[in-house]
Amino acid sequence: MPDRPTRRKLPANLSQQTAGVRAGSVFSDLGEHSELPFLTSSFAYRSAAEAAAVFAGEQDGFVYSRYTNPTVQSFEQRLARLEKADFCVATASGMSALLMLALCTLRPGDKVVSSDALFGTSVTMLRNYLPEHLGVECEFVPLADLEAWDKALASGARLALLETPSNPMLEQVELKALSALCRRHGVQLAVDNTLPTPIHLRPFELGADWVWTSATKWLDGQGRCVGGALLGRRENEAAARNCMRVCGLTMGAFDAWVLLKGLETLHARVEAASRTAAEIARWLRRQDGVEALACLSLPDHPGHRLAKEQMDGFGSLISFCLPGGQQGAWRFTDNTALVSITANLGDTRSTLTHPATTTHRSLPEEERARLGIAPGLVRLAVGLESAEDLKADLQRGLEAVTG
Ligand SMILES: *Cc1c(COP(=O)(O)O)cnc(C)c1O
Repeated sequence: MPDRPTRRKLPANLSQQTAGVRAGSVFSDLGEHSELPFLTSSFAYRSAAEAAAVFAGEQDGFVYSRYTNPTVQSFEQRLARLEKADFCVATASGMSALLMLALCTLRPGDKVVSSDALFGTSVTMLRNYLPEHLGVECEFVPLADLEAWDKALASGARLALLETPSNPMLEQVELKALSALCRRHGVQLAVDNTLPTPIHLRPFELGADWVWTSATKWLDGQGRCVGGALLGRRENEAAARNCMRVCGLTMGAFDAWVLLKGLETLHARVEAASRTAAEIARWLRRQDGVEALACLSLPDHPGHRLAKEQMDGFGSLISFCLPGGQQGAWRFTDNTALVSITANLGDTRSTLTHPATTTHRSLPEEERARLGIAPGLVRLAVGLESAEDLKADLQRGLEAVTG
């Protein structure tokens, strides 16, 4: 085996863009340039004494991939650096990250306050699983209503949960103000950062205690695997790592490797998709048949100012209504040819969703209406195709409903 010099140490204070490409790598001593996927369940030692020292935590080393694996650790370190978190625990999916958060923070009899505009399956977990299986009650409040948060938090809550901007209606809450409220009531604040990604929003800098995320979306960005992560402050690290060791909501090493490669292009992908989305939103505004157009990049969108204040970009979600309700939205959708008809987002490929009959179909109609999810609403999640091709595709759909 050639004798190689040890790897060079990364300079301090790298920008976020550079950290996404370089931070957290774990290399072997073989000189590989791209990180290896460590597809091994356990690790072997040179002696019984070394095994004992590693198991006792007296010597650095990996033990068992349910809770320590070099590739998973690379992904965790790189994402923690991007999110400005003290630690990151990678999980099997976004939902298992939320479950880990519940297991780490809640006891039977505790109360959770949550935005009512959370990801649908997250709402189901809070509404059904936590009360029925863990004895935790959840009160839902409108995301942007600080008075409602204040009132709900005052009634002895343990944890506050939200996602900003919301999907698909792009409502927001001022995170600095809400985290101050939470602190005043002694409540921990957790933010689902899947949609904005750490490229556009860093909740820890605005006072959050926890971030959870679905790595399935932007972090992979190419629709290849399912994963998630729970990130937090130093004082919560031991509880989270112990929970992973005992409960085993583990991310596989191969998925971690795919996601690590995804993080290398995250900054470039998020910025490019946002630029294209802004151009398409400006174009859509001039088209006949487009109603209730919403994109944070539009200066007259009610959330534009707050997005400018607390985010580093406007993102790539666009929602709008077609005339003729569900029938109009479906006809528009069926007459496009390029965009994918799917509920996913954060992919290189643009996706088109009809929320009322897919992602939000299980909500009662009056709740859908309150969230602004009209029968004619479609959500476009812009990817990396050219703006010209996307406009031509949307034009095909629009001609079918207006022509
Ligand atoms: C997809 C998604 C989740 C759930 O993540 P999975 O990886 O599918 O388990 C949670 N929150 C948001 C905002 C999502 O988009």
